[in-house]
Amino acid sequence: MPAISFEFFPPKTDEQRAQLDATAAVLRQRAPEYVSVTFGAGGSTLSYTPATVRLLREHHGLETVPHLSCMGGTRDEIRALLDLYRDLGCRRIVALRGDLPSGMAASGDFRHASELVRFIREETGDFFRIEVAGYPEVHPQAESWETDLRHLAEKVRAGADGVITQYFFNADAYARFVEDARRLGVEVPIVPGVLPITNYSQLRRFSEMCGAEIPRWIARRLQAMGDDRAAIRAFGAEVVAGLCRRLLELGAPGLHFYTLNRARGVLAVLERL
Ligand SMILES: Cc1cc2nc3c(=O)[nH]c(=O)nc-3n(C[C@H](O)[C@H](O)[C@H](O)COP(=O)(O)OP(=O)(O)OC[C@H]3O[C@@H](n4cnc5c(N)ncnc54)[C@H](O)[C@@H]3O)c2cc1C
Repeated sequence: MPAISFEFFPPKTDEQRAQLDATAAVLRQRAPEYVSVTFGAGGSTLSYTPATVRLLREHHGLETVPHLSCMGGTRDEIRALLDLYRDLGCRRIVALRGDLPSGMAASGDFRHASELVRFIREETGDFFRIEVAGYPEVHPQAESWETDLRHLAEKVRAGADGVITQYFFNADAYARFVEDARRLGVEVPIVPGVLPITNYSQLRRFSEMCGAEIPRWIARRLQAMGDDRAAIRAFGAEVVAGLCRRLLELGAPGLHFYTLNRARGVLAVLERL
């Protein structure tokens, strides 16, 4: 089994906290290399990330990696967060631009993830291993696939040690992305991000937001299943496990699961691998 990692979002309510607790306790048994905690995604309040990182490290004993985005504020505010994460024992960070909640003006001192990566390196040297985001199906705001790849290469030149991709369902897109990135001198590991399929309307919503393509054959089958959640789960697990197998054959150095704080979909995929 290759290295696996799990991504969580910071819970806001007691119910969500209990959900994450239960999920972390179950997924911990799968011996992940690390788990990561998103930052500000979906408009969540920024201070929830450090609290969640602390909980997962101290209560669950998980190697926990905070995400940090340009929306984290000014240089001073980001410096303070880096200090905090260092004190918590973190040695790895996922550095992103982040997305602005609609209607909000730009905040913070950095516009692109590459600037944030450079800043982290300037401030903390080699202390943190830095992961950045990559887009096998092209970032939705990119001018072209080629400029998008150049921007990825820029993040690596700025000091990133690894890439985690947006999720996708087309293994060829990953193969081509890795090949093209290598041609531009990106030598670091490129770990595919994997989203278990458990709910069609949610999948459609996410995919519209992040620009991931749902292949027509998958969409049509999921549509036909309507509200039959068991059928959706079984089909989704088969499809995503098949994708993971193919990615590993292609040489993927690991798998990063977007858990949405739920264990079931991830476990169904892992059990089939
Ligand atoms: C693994 C992963 C984890 C994520 N976690 C979070 C999270 O915790 N919180 C959150 O809010 N979001 C998260 N996201 C979403 C991410 O923030 C969005 O996709 C965001 O729109 C882009 O972030 P980025 O770091 O890729 O940005 P960038 O690398 O800055 O790229 C963003 C866009 O700008 C372009 N660009 C980059 N550099 C330049 C430049 N110098 N000049 C002109 N254009 C440029 C790129 O081509 C791209 O189109 C995550 C995404 C992934 C794949």
